[in-house]
Amino acid sequence: MKNTDWKKKGDAVFAGTYSRFPAAMVRGEGCRLRDADGREYLDFLAGIAVCSLGHCHPAVTEAICSQAKKLMHVSNLFYTEPQTELAELLTANSFADRVFMANSGAEANEAAIKLARIHSGKGRFEIISLSGSFHGRTLATVAATGQPKFHQGFEPMPAGFVHADFGDSEELEKLINPTTCAILCEPLQGESGVRPLTPEYLQKIRSLCDKYNLLLIFDEVQTGMGRTGSLFAYEQLGVTPDIMTLAKALGNGLPVGAMLTRSEIAASFTVGTHASTFGGNPVAAAAGVAVMKTMLADGFLEDVRERSAYFIQRLEEVAAKFPQLASGVRGSGMLLALVLTEKGIEHGTDIVQQLFERGCLINFAGMRVLRFIPPLTVSREDIDQLINELSEVLGEVG
Ligand SMILES: *Cc1c(COP(=O)(O)O)cnc(C)c1O
Repeated sequence: MKNTDWKKKGDAVFAGTYSRFPAAMVRGEGCRLRDADGREYLDFLAGIAVCSLGHCHPAVTEAICSQAKKLMHVSNLFYTEPQTELAELLTANSFADRVFMANSGAEANEAAIKLARIHSGKGRFEIISLSGSFHGRTLATVAATGQPKFHQGFEPMPAGFVHADFGDSEELEKLINPTTCAILCEPLQGESGVRPLTPEYLQKIRSLCDKYNLLLIFDEVQTGMGRTGSLFAYEQLGVTPDIMTLAKALGNGLPVGAMLTRSEIAASFTVGTHASTFGGNPVAAAAGVAVMKTMLADGFLEDVRERSAYFIQRLEEVAAKFPQLASGVRGSGMLLALVLTEKGIEHGTDIVQQLFERGCLINFAGMRVLRFIPPLTVSREDIDQLINELSEVLGEVG
């Protein structure tokens, strides 16, 4: 079957929640994808920052296959080796010493929200998050998400979520009241256009949490797992959260999420307060263990930072060459964006489409920037190829 056949079949059976490229993907290896017509793509989307080790990384595939032959599921009524090992690796390499395992980013954030509420006690339930944030699509996480377009049609939103203007710590402090229990934010906003929060602003948020006895929750679902050049983004910011959530790249494609915290906070999650049937499933956790071990290997993250510096330099050349379309580059590690001018924004969708037709996958994040989230393993040659195609497309558009 061809791409067009898959499109026809799919459009006849799926709920209409997605606008998809007209391609059915059949194979992936490293930074390359292949579709049903045999076309090859250079993938700078990586399943939306998920396949950070590249498609079908051998160590992950091996871990999944060997675990699937041994044991696929037993529920959290029992201990399993992969789940335990993954939790040990996560705690040994972060501020945290306790983990709750989930299956997705939204679920990890739900766990964080519930923990913040139960830990803070009666009458303290309100969570402050930031405008432009993205925290998931379940009702609580969409309520936490500071983008009204995601709320539309689903009101009433669950109570207990308020939003502060991005970057304004004075306004944020004014929102704190006796019912506030936590501040939730992404260290770098991914979905709304790769918008970094400055270390100073994050440090100010940390000090507000300390002053008012609030929990600081970092949503590192997108920024975590090496994406910004360190295992977790908070490590580069001089700010340590009380709770951190992970998902996306944790399983390199298998659904696995995690909520990490310190033991005195985790102690509020007593038996029966929260649970997940699949959370920390042995096969998904085995993938997570393989991902962690690969990323922790000597030189892996250093290498990511080196290639990131090269990628940033190449994107800056593009911005300098097309000032009428692009105004600059932002982001860190392999979470980068070419910021578009007003004129560039008008052409954003078209640029992404033109690149797709040339076999390069990127996206138009927050309808304001071109976002690049390739596998962390992307080579300089792949970066050069992307830059060449991008320059040609921008040349045609502008
Ligand atoms: C993708 C994302 C989520 C939601 O993750 P799902 O696995 O889609 O539920 C939450 N927070 C951030 C920052 C994300 O980028």
